[in-house]
Amino acid sequence: MARAKSTDAAKRAQRAGPALAFPAPDHDHARCSSDAMAVAEAVCQTRGQRLTAIRRKVLAVLLGSHKPLGAYEIVDRLAPKGPRPAPITAYRALEFLRENGLVHRIESRNAFIACVHTHAAGDLVVFLICENCGAVGEASSDAVATTLANAARSAGFAPKSPVIEITGVCVHCRGRE
Ligand SMILES: [Zn+2]
Ligand SMILES: [Zn+2]
Ligand SMILES: [Zn+2]
Repeated sequence: MARAKSTDAAKRAQRAGPALAFPAPDHDHARCSSDAMAVAEAVCQTRGQRLTAIRRKVLAVLLGSHKPLGAYEIVDRLAPKGPRPAPITAYRALEFLRENGLVHRIESRNAFIACVHTHAAGDLVVFLICENCGAVGEASSDAVATTLANAARSAGFAPKSPVIEITGVCVHCRGRE
């Protein structure tokens, strides 16, 4: 059953496409985050990895919003009241999530964001960072990826992990201007 649900979530996410790079402020975020958690479970299952309690908790913290959180903020939110887990435990979980493409690092913010899109781990992702509300959207474009690969190749350069982050104003904040 879990598998069927995850597949649905993946399909929905794929269908959503670029229009949902920035979900509307009044979108059903509970569903959005539970879908993403289901996708994460499916990804781990496929790879024979375990989404342990701490990994799940870290991902849940990041799925709390579409805004990036710094490593310290993540640790803080893991245990708002009770005793905090050792930061190293949280960082290891974060590393696992990154390696499996479930979380992205936003370099310019030194922060992390849960990936609510389903794209291949190696896909070039353009991060769109709203300076107004802080939300981060993802756009992926084969054309951009090809252009960059060609530019690098013509410079005799072997690119490893291209990072593209664009700051600006998201569609919802623009609508409010
Ligand atoms: Zn959402
Ligand atoms: Zn992503
Ligand atoms: Zn915005």
